[in-house]
Amino acid sequence: MPDVFTKAKRSEVMSRIRSHGNAATELRLMKLMRDEKITGWRRQLPLTVRSAGIKVRPDFVFRRERLAVFVDGCFWHGCPRHATQPKQNRIFWETKILRNQTRDRLVTRELTKAGWTVLRIWECALTLKRARGTLSRLQRALKKPAR
Ligand SMILES: [Zn+2]
Repeated sequence: MPDVFTKAKRSEVMSRIRSHGNAATELRLMKLMRDEKITGWRRQLPLTVRSAGIKVRPDFVFRRERLAVFVDGCFWHGCPRHATQPKQNRIFWETKILRNQTRDRLVTRELTKAGWTVLRIWECALTLKRARGTLSRLQRALKKPAR
């Protein structure tokens, strides 16, 4: 996919990035990690990717393992299973969600290039039924040797 941003535009866009993770979802993952005794993470630690001139704030950062975890809301980030289509202002929402997805890809790519492992977790992957599998994914990512 071609890069849709010029360098200047990109840093402008990136500077406006906030965590879109919804607080309840982040709290849910926090609880799961605590129950599982997964430690060593910090919440919303700002990371600067100097080579790309961007600053990001992953929902959780495991600094030692160089792992950045994002919890993505199904609606805001366009989860393939749960992306709903609001009937009102459809174009507006579609544009917004597409923009979020483009930004998500950019952030993942730039962090990866900078030697981070990036784990994106859908909001819906934290349900009782799917939490087990999600935690295994997280544990696998934590065991991955840092580059
Ligand atoms: Zn979903």
